[in-house]
Order: sequence, then C-alpha cells, then structure tokens
Amino acid sequence: QEQAFLASVRDAATVSTRRRRTPRPPVDLDAPAPEGFENAPDTDPAVLESRAWAQEVLTRRVEVPEPVRIRSTDDVDAVVARAVAVREHWAGVTPAQRAALLHRAAVHLEAARSDLVATAVQEAGKTVPEVDPEVSEAVDFARYYAERAVELGDGATPHAVFRPDGVTVVTPPWNFPVAIPIGSVLAALAAGSPVVIKPAPPTPRCAGVAVAAVHRAMDELGVPRDVLQVVDSPEGEIGRHLVSHPDVARVLLTGSIETARLFGGWRPDLDVIAETSGKNALIVTPSADVDLAVADAVRSAFGHAGQKCSAASLLVLVGAAGRSQRLHRQLADAVRSLRVGPPTDLSTVVGPLTEPASGKLLDALTALDEGERWLVQPERLDDEGRLWRPGVKHGVRPGSPFHLTEYFGPVLGVMRVETLDEAIDLQNAVPFGLTGGIHSLDEREIAHWLERVEVGNAYVNRHITGAIVQRQPFGGWKASSIGPGAKAGGPNYVAQLGRWQDAPDVP
Ligand code: GLU
Repeated sequence: QEQAFLASVRDAATVSTRRRRTPRPPVDLDAPAPEGFENAPDTDPAVLESRAWAQEVLTRRVEVPEPVRIRSTDDVDAVVARAVAVREHWAGVTPAQRAALLHRAAVHLEAARSDLVATAVQEAGKTVPEVDPEVSEAVDFARYYAERAVELGDGATPHAVFRPDGVTVVTPPWNFPVAIPIGSVLAALAAGSPVVIKPAPPTPRCAGVAVAAVHRAMDELGVPRDVLQVVDSPEGEIGRHLVSHPDVARVLLTGSIETARLFGGWRPDLDVIAETSGKNALIVTPSADVDLAVADAVRSAFGHAGQKCSAASLLVLVGAAGRSQRLHRQLADAVRSLRVGPPTDLSTVVGPLTEPASGKLLDALTALDEGERWLVQPERLDDEGRLWRPGVKHGVRPGSPFHLTEYFGPVLGVMRVETLDEAIDLQNAVPFGLTGGIHSLDEREIAHWLERVEVGNAYVNRHITGAIVQRQPFGGWKASSIGPGAKAGGPNYVAQLGRWQDAPDVP
C-alpha cells in the first residue's frame, strides 16, 4: 500500500510537469477547434525542447498595434462612451456566439505564440521556457471560459437570466504579461461585458500583441472592436478618472494589495475583483523525498526570478528535515548552480528582474535581520540591479519582516520548527493566503495539512507555482483576494461577472 501511495505522489508530480510538444507545427487557422485544453504546465527551466524554434523566436521583431492614447480625462470619457455604445449589443449576443469568439481567439493566440514569446522576452525579461507556458495558459483560458459562457444562457440555468456587469476595466500585472491580461479580458467578454484594458506600464506590448489576436477573431466574426479597447494611459489622476468613471461597472485587478486599496479609496462602491499579493511557504517534513522537495523549492522560489505572487518565499523545515545536512547541501548546491543571465541566452534559468531591485526587495537581498544568516548570499551581477544570483537566508524568525512581507524577487527564507503544526502556524500567520505547499510522503501529515492550511492553492509534493486552468483554478484567501473569491480558470469565475435575475416562466 505504501508503495502504491509513493507511486501516486510521484505520478502527481510527473503529471503536473507534463510538457507541451515542440517544435510547434504551424497553426492552421481553418482547422476545427481542438478538443480540451493544453493543460499548460509550469515551466521546467532546465529543459528546452526546441532550441531551433526558440532561437528563431529570439530574433523576431514584432509589430504591435497602437493602443488608444489617453492623455486627458476627456480621452477617458471617449473610451468609456465607445464601450457603452456597444454594451447592449455585446450583452445581447447569444452565449454560444460569445463562446465562438473565445474559441476563435484561442486559435489566434496559438497562432501568435512566437510573437507573444518574443515580445515577453524583450519587454519583461522573461525566459522562453517561462513565457511559453503562459501562451498555453492564455489559450486554455479562452477554451475554458468559452465553455463557461455557454453555461450562462440558453436555458442552462432554469428560472434565472444572467445580466453581464457592463463596462469592465482590466488592470493586469507585468509578471504574467500574456496570460493574466488575456485571461481577465476573455472572462469579461465571456460574461458579455465590453472591456477596456490598461496594460501594466512595464509590459504594454505583450498585452497589445495578445489583444491583437483577439481583435483578429472579432473581425472574423463581425464583433465590433470597441468591445475590447486597449489604452495607453498614465496612472495618477487619469487612471483615477477611469477607475472611478460612473459608467465603469467592474474592475478586474491583478496587482499589489496597495493598488487594490488605492482603487477602493478612489471609489468605495467599486465592484473590484482583485488577485493581490502572496507570501507563500513550502513545508518539508522529515518523511519528504528530499530530491523532489529541493527541486520544487528552487523552482517555486526562483522561477521568473521570484516575480510571481505564487512564488515560494519561505521554506519551513520540520524536525529532522531542519537538521538534515543533506537537504541543506542540496539546496545550497542547487541554488548556486542556477544559471543566471539574460533571457536571450537559452541556457538561462534565472533571468533579470523586470525592474531594478529597490525598496524592500533590495533590503531583503542585501541585509540580514537579527538571527538570520546567508546559506547562499545573493549577488548582484549587473550595474542596473536587475540581474541577481538568487539567495537563501537561514534563521528567519517568526513574526520578523522576512516572515510576513512579500518581496517579489530571488530570495528565499528558511525557517525551522519541531512539529508540523508549528510549521502550519507559521504558514498561516502571514496576512495572505495565496499558495502553499507540503512535501511529505506521510498520508496523515498531508491530510492534516490540507485541513489546516489557509491558502487558495494548496499543492502536495509539487512546486507551488504554475496553476493549470481547470485543474488548479487560481486564487487566494485572506488578503490575497478581494471580491467573491471565485478562482481564475475555475468554474465560477465567469458567472461572478454579472448578476442573476429571476425569470419566471412566461406561458
Ligand atoms: N497563476 C500563476 C501561478 O500559478 C501566478 C500568477 C501571479 O503571480 O500573479 O504561478
């Protein structure tokens, strides 16, 4: 029985790292929509299956359509008015027609894969293996939300009709510059709302290329382009005018908790659904498979240089795991041997930060708090402060800044405790509740952890980044999320983007 259990946890780990097939055949735009999802895996940065394809991608120059330039509050009003003008039209098309648009968008996103990857490498500094699954995730969002759109109408829910929110503003982050903008856009479109997307300042081109793919699908199906507008807008007063506009019914934000609070301050009655920060811990118990645990910790902490709200920022070692020389040596060796470099070098595993380290991240990379010491000291490799050899610090104390603060960069803190319950207490003590993980080969430990841990995405014997559409809907508890709490890529996400109204049977 124990053997079977071990086999099953290993299987789970293997399945969740299943990779896509490359090299990629050219996309046939006229082929029927494929069944199912791509089940985009998180990247395994050590492997890059198609170097030829990646080399070609790195040389691409991608044309990005011009966004609507917003320079004044009048420009904001004009954009919102255009969205209002198509609101009834888009709310009135059948769910099946909306689904058709999303399926078509999936085809065009897949066809734009190389352009999307190229743009994200150039603009965000993401490595090819990090951004490639993002494109798959975007395609999965399109297909998955298409199916959810159909559930909203055509008698799928008896005695109730779905009324879409109306004009929806999407403010995505820069760390997943393809999947998150397009996932949010497609969810709102699936619900029947027109969308205005304001890309994150560091990564407007990625959003532009992704939106262009959706626009191509709209053109084919005769959907007016005003249903999806992309704007280039400064933040500050003009951003405030957009978010506070009385004709804006909903904001979908993925960003920091500070931004969510800012929006709420601008307009207290705003319907905002926000996916915010995380401070995520991976627990390793003495029963864990050390090889797997170390590999998953390193991948979870340093994928995309730690710039994921799902990233592991704490490693909590329980009992003998905390005293294991082997574990510490393997961890230090694994971190030291990560290849740090530019994203244009295909052997790079840890690429640059999207923006130079500053503020609390710079402190976390350069300073130690009381009781802390470096297991591996971070090292700055460029003048700008974007390229860092990742670091691991030991002796993080309960309640200290490192225990409780999100840093969003390549530094991992290690904590040691004697019991699993103490480890869970530390994991739950943070204000956020986004992702968390346990490495254990003891079924009772896993069951106990699952019962107690306060996170939206709880991973067992797996890295804790890289949620997969449908299989692991993504979203947090506590301060990691604002709104009704439906998870992206999960069953209720689209259905929350509107209101249900009683529809008595009319004889
Ligand atoms: N969905 C991503 C993941 O599962 C994280 C998204 C984020 O960092 O905002 O790793």
